[in-house]
This record gives sequence, C-alpha cells and structure tokens, in this order.
Amino acid sequence: MTSDKTKVIESSEKDETIPTEMKAWEVVKPGPLDANPSPLKFTTKPVPTPKRGEVLVHIIACGVCHTDLHVTEGDLPVHQEHVTPGHEIVGKVVKNGPGTSRFELGDRIGVPWLRWTCGVCEYCRAGKENLCPNSLYTGWDHDGGYAEYVTVPEGFAYRIPERFDSMTAAPLLCAGIIGYRAFERANVPAGGRLGLYGFGGSAHLTAQLAMAQGIEVHVLTRGKDAREFALELGAASANGAYDLPPVKLDSAIIYAPVGDIVPKALEALKPGGTLAMAGIHSTDLPQLTYTEHIFHEKNLTSVESNTRRDGEEFLTLADRLNIHPEIHEYPLAKADEALKYVAAGDIKGACVLRVSEG
Ligand SMILES: [Zn+2]
Ligand SMILES: [Zn+2]
Repeated sequence: MTSDKTKVIESSEKDETIPTEMKAWEVVKPGPLDANPSPLKFTTKPVPTPKRGEVLVHIIACGVCHTDLHVTEGDLPVHQEHVTPGHEIVGKVVKNGPGTSRFELGDRIGVPWLRWTCGVCEYCRAGKENLCPNSLYTGWDHDGGYAEYVTVPEGFAYRIPERFDSMTAAPLLCAGIIGYRAFERANVPAGGRLGLYGFGGSAHLTAQLAMAQGIEVHVLTRGKDAREFALELGAASANGAYDLPPVKLDSAIIYAPVGDIVPKALEALKPGGTLAMAGIHSTDLPQLTYTEHIFHEKNLTSVESNTRRDGEEFLTLADRLNIHPEIHEYPLAKADEALKYVAAGDIKGACVLRVSEG
C-alpha cells in the first residue's frame, strides 16, 4: 500500500529527474547505412511533452528492427523529417499527460510500432485497425526509441509480462507481434509444416511459438550462423534461402525483404497452401508461372502491421509458452553498428539497445 506521503515524494522526485534534453539518434537524410556522411546522427533533442491521452516513458531498452533500416535507408518514404527510429521500446512511465488514467508512475510498459489508429474508419470499425489509412507509427511518423525518452498514447502501449526482463522483452514488441500476425495470416493447420524464409529477430520468435504448438518448422535462410541457430532451437531442417525444403509445406512466411524468393516459396507449398510476406517492404516479385506457382489453390498474401488484439494475444502466449528472445546488447551510442549487423542478415536473434538500467 502506498501512502499519500510516498506519492508526494515520488511526484517531486519525478519532476526533478526528467531533464529538458536527451540523447537521441535521428535520420538526417535517408540513404545507404555505410554512406559518408552517415544517414544517422547521434544528437541532442528536447525531451518530449506528453500530449492529451499520452504518457512519457523513460526508455530502458529498444530493439533494432529491420524496419528501422528501411526508414534509415529510404526504402520507406519520409513521414517525419529528422525522425528518431525505434519501435520496440520498454521503459517506465515517468509522467502522465492530461486525460490519462491507465498507468501509474513507475509502471513498466512497452511502446510498439502501431502508435495510433483513428477508430472511426471502416477498417477500425471492422476490427482491422492494422489497415487503418490514418494510422501512425512509432519511429516513422513520430519519434521512437533510439533515445532516452518517448511519448505514447496510453491506449496503444502494452504491459510487459513479469517473466521478461526489459532487454529481453524489447524484441517481442515488433519482431514478436508482427511474427505472430504473420503466423496467423499463414493459416498453418494443426500439426502442419511451416517454412520460414529468413531467420532474424522475428522468425526466431515465430519458430518458437509454432514449435511450442506442435508445428514442424523448416527454415530457409542465407546465413550459416542463422541456420545453425534454427537447428539449435529445434527446426526440422535449415537450408539456403533459394533451396527447396526437404518436405512440402502447408504454409510459409517470408521475412526477408526479397521478392525473388517468392516463386521458390510458392513451389515449396502443398496444394491449398498459404504463403504470407511479413515485411513492410520487399523488392518486387519476379514473373510467376500460373501452373507452377499459383494453381492448386495456393494463396499468396502479405502482413500489414498488427492490431492491438494481436499484440495482447502474442504477449499472453509468449508468457505462457516461455518464448525466449535471443538478444545482442548494444549501448544506445552504437545504434548505427547494431543496424549494420541487422543489415548483414546473418544474425542469431535480435539486437537490442541498452538505454538505461532497469
Ligand atoms: Zn481507422
Ligand atoms: Zn519492427
């Protein structure tokens, strides 16, 4: 039980400890990561003020997602000049904006990719807020987590299950949630066989989620370390990205942003199988052949963002099924190096920036 006196002390401490400026990365001008000058700059920004319905979060950890690379390198159009990337954020609430009621100061919450949806368009009203044309995204439309503080509309944040420490929890917030939506979109039958193309932060969580539910997982990826990691986690096979798996698949998910893989992945499907493309960006698809790739009622689909319901379902399952993200820790000041590691593609798990202790 917290006494009123304690609350007053917390409140005055809180005011003293929120600085006016913070360290943050920003995308100066999107372009290749290894260009000179770099598209990214480590700089100082004002600590944001939470608007109506928002809370201010002191960041502990922020995961490094492939989408951050697309924002930095310009594969995605600029939505906000000098944006701070990062949308797998775990931190503590340090200030409640006007009209908020959901969190207490000190609560540990997650700030995800989906920052806001309108709630009134036909998609929002149909329970498909991931397709909302008015949606806003953390680290693209609004400053994200490669920084010390971030704001979030309280209704779009998640509570983090206690089982996970903050660094380990970070990749759950996009890699995990989007992976879960891709898994749902891939429509894997009970006891079926699932192919995963690319094996980075997202796929290694989807693989665990699938295997924990009795699905046989086959991994196809370019990186040797990633293939070994997949086998360690319990995948039934691991081969090159353009190889055929040893068995026909019921479903497959492409995580790599490479359209050239699509024909191979469609060939690998059984009749009636489904291929879901999980990325927000992909290179174009090459020409497909009707008989080889589409006939036999094969389904080709994509994944756009996620609903808050997906997020809640995934975090509950991750807790219950003991999903364990494999992470590589980088200090905030080395976010550019972490992104280069993600770009290289031969990764064992996910990179996470350590921003503060907690
Ligand atoms: Zn909407
Ligand atoms: Zn992401």
